[in-house]
Amino acid sequence: MQTIKLGDVTISRVIEIDRSSFPTASMLPDSSADRIAAHHHWLKPHFFDERTGDLASRIQSYVVRTPRHTIVIDTGVGNDKNRHGAPAWHMRKSAYLDDLAALGVTPERIDFVLCTHLHVDHVGWNTRWDGARWVPTFPNAKYVIAGAEWEFWKYESDAGKEESGCIADSVVPVVEAGQAVLVDSDYAVDQYLRFEPWVGHTPGHVCVRLTTSAGSAVFSGDLMHRTVQVAEPQWSSRFCYDAAQARATRRAFVERHADSGTMILAGHFPHPGYIVREGSGHRFTRS
Ligand SMILES: [Zn+2]
Repeated sequence: MQTIKLGDVTISRVIEIDRSSFPTASMLPDSSADRIAAHHHWLKPHFFDERTGDLASRIQSYVVRTPRHTIVIDTGVGNDKNRHGAPAWHMRKSAYLDDLAALGVTPERIDFVLCTHLHVDHVGWNTRWDGARWVPTFPNAKYVIAGAEWEFWKYESDAGKEESGCIADSVVPVVEAGQAVLVDSDYAVDQYLRFEPWVGHTPGHVCVRLTTSAGSAVFSGDLMHRTVQVAEPQWSSRFCYDAAQARATRRAFVERHADSGTMILAGHFPHPGYIVREGSGHRFTRS
């Protein structure tokens, strides 16, 4: 996507991984190839990946620049992280920071890192390896995290139930550096950006709403993983903590934003776009 301008705010992104790490059949266990094919007329070409013959996906960060602040929303998988469970995520050596620099943004310039949730593919660049330990990648940033999300994952991590290790190497070092700000799930970051609780994928999952004089947008994190879920919101992902709650949340989100003109920027969608009504259902359309 090109940089998007909304009033006096600009939105860009850094793509860390440009394809799906999991086939849709595995990612959305309730989905079926037949039902997905019934949506191909709007999924293709923009939301389909001909290289994999599957739905398109990204792992990416959004960079938001307001007149006062430079903000990163979610930070991908990260470099040098031990991720034995996922080969594409293990000990990566990607050019993420160069890609950020190409947008004119150095790590020192980031004022806020906003975490929609604390899954392994959303917190990786919170930290980098300095040769001896994990340190915050963005030295001057406040890392804004919903307190409910931190409490849940801290407990899981302390109990040895968080298998990836991402809390220990990508969140705890930020907390220990004094750069984490634990907030309510409706926290206002500034006059433009605010958290909204949309839970189910994780217990403290938030979306980030951007409000400008020229319209609004929502960074929806992992409320949906694939664009087909706009039409089939009952399909939760295998990574949803509470599949039933995630389903109800997704339905409410789709209904609320249909034909609203609100731009939706999802954690893994290949393009920003809009939720529109079609017949008795919904679909996604590229902006
Ligand atoms: Zn994710």
